[in-house]
Amino acid sequence: MTRKYSTSQLRNIGIMAHIDAGKTTTTERILYFTGLTHKMGEVHDGTAIMDWMAQEQERGITITSAATSCEWLDHKINILDTPGHVDFTVEVERCLRVLDGAIFLLDAKEGVEAQTEAVWHQANHYHVPRMIFVNKMDVVGADFYRSIDTIHNRLKANTAVLQLPIGSEKTFDGLVSLIDMKAYYYSGENGQNVTNGPIPEAYLEKSKQYRNKLIETLAEIDDEMMLLYIEDQEISTELIKKVVRKATIDGLIVPILCGSAYKNKGVQNLLDAIINYLPSPLDRPAISGHVHDVLEERKPSEDEPFSALIFKVMTDPYVGRLSYFRVYSGHIKQNGSALNVSKHKKERLSKILDMHANSRTEIAYAGVGDIVAAVGLKYSTTGDTLSDMNAPIELESIVFPEPVISRAIEPKTPGDFDKMNEALVRLTEEDPTLTSYVHPDTGQILISGMGELHLEIILDRLKREFKVGVNSGKPQVTYRESISLPTNVTYELDKQLGTNAIYALVQLDVKPRERGSGHEITVSVKKKNLLKTYINACVEGIEQSLKSGVIGGYEVIDVGVDIVAIDFKEDQSNDVAFITAGSNAITQALKDGQSKLLEPIFSVDVQVPETYMGDVIDDMNRRHGEITNIESNQSGRLIKAITPLSNLFGYATDLRSITRGHGHYTMIFSHFDFVE
Ligand code: GDP
Ligand code: MG
Repeated sequence: MTRKYSTSQLRNIGIMAHIDAGKTTTTERILYFTGLTHKMGEVHDGTAIMDWMAQEQERGITITSAATSCEWLDHKINILDTPGHVDFTVEVERCLRVLDGAIFLLDAKEGVEAQTEAVWHQANHYHVPRMIFVNKMDVVGADFYRSIDTIHNRLKANTAVLQLPIGSEKTFDGLVSLIDMKAYYYSGENGQNVTNGPIPEAYLEKSKQYRNKLIETLAEIDDEMMLLYIEDQEISTELIKKVVRKATIDGLIVPILCGSAYKNKGVQNLLDAIINYLPSPLDRPAISGHVHDVLEERKPSEDEPFSALIFKVMTDPYVGRLSYFRVYSGHIKQNGSALNVSKHKKERLSKILDMHANSRTEIAYAGVGDIVAAVGLKYSTTGDTLSDMNAPIELESIVFPEPVISRAIEPKTPGDFDKMNEALVRLTEEDPTLTSYVHPDTGQILISGMGELHLEIILDRLKREFKVGVNSGKPQVTYRESISLPTNVTYELDKQLGTNAIYALVQLDVKPRERGSGHEITVSVKKKNLLKTYINACVEGIEQSLKSGVIGGYEVIDVGVDIVAIDFKEDQSNDVAFITAGSNAITQALKDGQSKLLEPIFSVDVQVPETYMGDVIDDMNRRHGEITNIESNQSGRLIKAITPLSNLFGYATDLRSITRGHGHYTMIFSHFDFVE
């Protein structure tokens, strides 16, 4: 069985940017020009088809990363639209994990903004090849060259400028392609007709200068190019394209394009560039995963056994539970079975769907590189691996950030209690950054997540999708605990239980670890192998106790626990005894090591006109914020601060009143630190 496209004709891309840079608009235009949608949607009328959830349409933001596919130049492009708001970093993480390439959009007036920078670093982590599209070239204050400066200064990227704008702001007219040295223009009602011609006289000099720069950059990377360059010979368009493609895929350069999605300029060239320069799944390295304890690789090839990663699970009003997955190797057919390696369960994929923004096509087969959704999976959750039944491999899962904020909730009608719980199970399954639990002391139900907006949207969804009205408490910070001093404890369990004596002895060395490093349990017991089951039981007990610390029952982080010694008695020791001893030993160590509360600290970027700078800084000082940097830029001042999240509640409203609506801010989780 085959499919319409070969793997080399696939592009899996994500569109990343700061909020309002134009992700949704650009995606809309891409779908329009690739012929999928015949009516253009605008974000501000709430008709854009990528933003299909009711909340997204009302708030004009993108929350879920809806996957959609389209066709261009005989290629298939899968696009994941990701949200710009930091409360939804999870969407960005999972998107980066399964993509092959990304487009970063900049607002030409602002250049690189805080969220762009944050996501850029996330993308570095995943080694995602990328291009930058300098969007909004038509807006007042747009400046292509200043935007490039911000790319150098803030992202430290090795840029390869492939286009120059013709005109700017109101006069933005088209662009020069430095690859074929032609000017491109867009006509027709929606800019659907692309024409090209000679570069206007006024842009000729600059275009030559930038083309030269491009060739120099490429010559440094490619030997063939270097030779031609030194010998001052003609360099063909084909060679330039080839080298740009290779260097982009290798992460050596970042191609820069420009345009205005809203004014329908440059989008078709962007689509060409996606095909020409971003990798197909075959251009990406093999993926590694665990086969039992051994690390193995799966090449992106149909000949390898099937492996895929589930990166999103959501409940669809029509078909029920949808599990989005990306195939890394091999293939799977409709109605086929696969092993969920992470859950040790066999799953049957009763249907495989190719997802457009709000419609879907059943397909018979999913092969290497495909990003599609399955119906019928019962056990699978985000981050699980699906694998060939006979060649199981577990791919590295997606790492999700920890929740930092929580709210108590209860149903408005007590009879809705079960309905609310069911809804919470569904929502937490969909969203790994959302958790819900019962507070051990108060018995209240708490939901916790990534930020105020995140939880607000959840409350909204409870009401709308699940028809459960809830009363909710104020948002509260979720704390963590950690020790402040190293300590060594020996715990001996020696008890009479009815007629049985039970015995276990555990000795632990416990040390504080660097902030943000999590916890680590090591074993330096002699004769480890002989005592394996007791040691495992001890580790289990320790893990359990680290889930709730000794001060407020918060999760314990950033501690190193070394099991130094254990002792047992032949007839009196068993696993349960060691679970208990491990648990009690670490609890003792947490007390001895003077555990303290840790609170989430955020880094905040505030952009304000000059005149409000003093007031914003005063206010930040009142919030115990530490100002780390103040920068002048086009829009005034950019103030950077590090502030405990607990002092940032309601900041949106306060900043609005301080700056009379002229201030903007973004906040991003930085780290946990001791409460002062
Ligand atoms: P997102 O938050 O990145 O998804 O951004 P949107 O696509 O929602 O765009 C934010 C706002 O900017 C909307 O009002 C768009 O109509 C507008 N916009 C997007 N691209 C452009 C552009 O190229 N030029 C102009 N003038 N406005 C744009
Ligand atoms: Mg959007």
